Amino acid sequence: MNYISTRNNQKDFSFKDVFLKGLADDGGLFVPKSIRQLKKDQLENFKSLSYNELAAEIIYPFIGDFMSKNKLISLISKSYSNFRSKEVVKISNLGNLKVLELFHGPTLAFKDIAMQLIGNFYQYHLGQDQKKINIIVATSGDTGAAAIDALKGKSNLNVFVLHPNNKISPVQRRLMTIHEDSNVFNIAIDGNFDDCQNLVKAMFNDEKFSKAINMSGVNSINWARIIAQSVYYFYAYFKVGNGKPLSFCVPTGNFGDIYAGYLAKKLGLPVDKLIVATNKNDILHRAISGGDYTQKKVEETNTPSMDIQIASNFERLLYDVKDCDSEVTKDVMSKIKNNSYKIDKNDLDKIKKNFISEMLDENETVEMIKIINNEHKIVVDPHTAVGIGAARKLGLEKNCIVLSTAHPCKFPQAIEDAISRTEDLPDSLNYVYDRKEKFELLPNEIEKVKGYVMNSI
Ligand SMILES: *Cc1c(COP(=O)(O)O)cnc(C)c1O
Repeated sequence: MNYISTRNNQKDFSFKDVFLKGLADDGGLFVPKSIRQLKKDQLENFKSLSYNELAAEIIYPFIGDFMSKNKLISLISKSYSNFRSKEVVKISNLGNLKVLELFHGPTLAFKDIAMQLIGNFYQYHLGQDQKKINIIVATSGDTGAAAIDALKGKSNLNVFVLHPNNKISPVQRRLMTIHEDSNVFNIAIDGNFDDCQNLVKAMFNDEKFSKAINMSGVNSINWARIIAQSVYYFYAYFKVGNGKPLSFCVPTGNFGDIYAGYLAKKLGLPVDKLIVATNKNDILHRAISGGDYTQKKVEETNTPSMDIQIASNFERLLYDVKDCDSEVTKDVMSKIKNNSYKIDKNDLDKIKKNFISEMLDENETVEMIKIINNEHKIVVDPHTAVGIGAARKLGLEKNCIVLSTAHPCKFPQAIEDAISRTEDLPDSLNYVYDRKEKFELLPNEIEKVKGYVMNSI
């Protein structure tokens, strides 16, 4: 399978290029040149597969000659061997509603599912090609921990994680900062998540710098993450499905996880609607409900992993909506950069064929955690509560699967506000509180960050 950039569809890239670069040099995102739908009998055969077997079937066509299928199968099984759920994910019932629990990996959020695999992809690649890689990643809390856990101690690579100082929960921070491995570097930026993301983008776009350090990225723009995430849409569909189309409701920030659902639909999975659930940083809700894609200031909420105003992966959807015209997409992206873009009616109608959206503010989120706890005696994390709340507000609980993106212990404040107690960490993670933390505090200045990276490698 060949890939192109959403901003230049004339130049082909291999999966290896796409995986290692993350972002294209022209600032665009990589997408497959074309996607072939799975045949009915192929889908039928997927029904009886285990999670790992299914993952191999779905991922393999996307990676071309990067590795053999047998190698892929062994890396998948290695990646998920330490998950607390044997089948990687779990499905639970909340009345009519199904919840797909994606937080049984080592850092308690769905991001482990893609990241553990990516860590092993890197190790495989670096075993063949000895040039040291520096991975730089911005996090609003969960990505960083997942990346560090997946990459710590691996040879021939360093991982630098930028998180917004004081804007993530102590458990989230500790899951990143307690590691002693010499290839792990934590940087707390005096700013918000978008600042962190912009710093990483600026480093990528500085060709001289990124070449000099052999820079690579694992943010949710990385195509390898998208394909790894589309697996659980298939898995959940087959576990729950009665053959009818299902909707998926996804707590959304950077539009990566839900885009993986869109990919599953493009591959032929009978998906009805993809529901974008946001907090009050609602650019995607405004965009999908009314075409308004103007960025406002990021506000801190009790669902910090969705506190963003630039949903990077949305570019991939816009590229599709613009009939895969990369010149038009480039133009749209420059309008977005100048904050002067409105989605026209024709495009919006296309988007609405697949997506709908809803928003929950902080009070509604807390209220939802409480209601779910009263009704079903379970505690969900605030992001999951936004997803469940969105499905309920839209009256779409039937034939709907809500993605549960994190374990409630990661967001103690919201849980305490809702039910006046907190959730414990799973026993196997108690060590997180005992170890010493290590991170560097830096201002939101690109030269300072570059300098730190240069001095560390
Ligand atoms: C990252 C994250 C999200 C948002 O996912 P995107 O792919 O950025 O849309 C939602 N919930 C949790 C808990 C997360 O960590």
